[in-house]
Amino acid sequence: MENGPANLGLIFFPAYDWAISPSHPEREERLLYTHDQLREEGILDLPEIEEWRPEKASDADAERVHFFPLGLHAVAALPHMISAGGAITAGKLVAEGKARKAFALVRPPGHHAGKVVHGGRGFCNINNEAIMIARLREDYGYRRIAVVDTDCHHGDGTQDIYWHDPDTLFISLHQDGRTLYPGSGMPGELGGPRAWGSTVNVPLPPRTGDEGFHLAVREIVRPILDEWKPELVINSAGQDNHFTDPITSMSLTALGYAEMSQMINPDLAVLEGGYAIQGALPYTNLAIIMSMAGLDWTRVKEPMPPEGPPRTSRKTLDYVMGLADFIRDKRSHPPEPSLTGSTLKGGWFCRERRIFYDSHPADPVTQPDWPSYIDERREERLRDCPDCPGVLVIRTASDLCGPRVFAALPLSPCARCKEIAEEVETTGKGQF
Ligand SMILES: [Zn+2]
Ligand SMILES: [Zn+2]
Repeated sequence: MENGPANLGLIFFPAYDWAISPSHPEREERLLYTHDQLREEGILDLPEIEEWRPEKASDADAERVHFFPLGLHAVAALPHMISAGGAITAGKLVAEGKARKAFALVRPPGHHAGKVVHGGRGFCNINNEAIMIARLREDYGYRRIAVVDTDCHHGDGTQDIYWHDPDTLFISLHQDGRTLYPGSGMPGELGGPRAWGSTVNVPLPPRTGDEGFHLAVREIVRPILDEWKPELVINSAGQDNHFTDPITSMSLTALGYAEMSQMINPDLAVLEGGYAIQGALPYTNLAIIMSMAGLDWTRVKEPMPPEGPPRTSRKTLDYVMGLADFIRDKRSHPPEPSLTGSTLKGGWFCRERRIFYDSHPADPVTQPDWPSYIDERREERLRDCPDCPGVLVIRTASDLCGPRVFAALPLSPCARCKEIAEEVETTGKGQF
């Protein structure tokens, strides 16, 4: 190959010595078979692919995105920081032109971690993609960024982080929340009052297969990406839509995943879920790697039942077409603030939320008594600012700590919103 960047930079961080518990599905050996498969196929010897070591995210990287009422180190251990660091390494490769695309094959995952982190949610403690994005914006000046989440579970943490951000497009395809954790991600969830349409949810019924996913990407995801014109597209690549996944009910194949990846054409991918660790995850990861590297992925052979891959029903295909119409119509007609889940009071958009943590310790060895459930009570105030998307002031409390107030600024805040954020920081009080 001529000198020049590889087609794909690969960052592998399997965290073989860390898990929530020995029987947990997000377990130590989750990426072991993927690693063996990549070696067997000689993937890392190809000129199109280059492997890089992950860096460790700094405390400042994590704190740029999240608010930690109990402190970062109570809820994130070393593997979390390296997993997020792996995403950062991937982002830097692309930003600096050292690779055309990059894939961070890392664990633990991150897409259920939201703006505030009282503990773990859905196997996630800090949001790897959001930490990468904040760093890329800070160091390389990116502005408009799209995240397409293809994990089977709704990416509710990422949605929470960007709900009020008009510069980040978040699209999640997932198994319908009425049938799977975390229960959110309905089609009417389209972003906050100043960021309407920059959140898009595509819930799909159980047993949606390749045809259904590809139709959803073609009719919903692709047109929105083409119109929105992001500077970077990031795929939250969860492989748990595979038809053999033990904790979900969807019907994608490994090749179906690769084709979907080709249609989305992400600059960056960060691994999320995928729990059929032997029979599906290695093939899905391999096929996506080949697709991102511009190699022929159609030859990847995955274990398949004699009757062939599961088909998507006519009813589901019709539903996807109807959903495309619904989303197109709603995005082009911003509603009254009250219909975005907020009410406007005295110049502030207000909403109240309760967030449930099916919690787990960051470090099971040093935190054996960490609670299994945490209930967060949150009040949000977004300033209805004439000059910028508005400072967001949040008051949060949980079973573990009393109310704490903090402020988050938009990408280019006005002077007044900046002042308000500084006041909140020094006084610990906000608009409540
Ligand atoms: Zn998942
Ligand atoms: Zn402002």
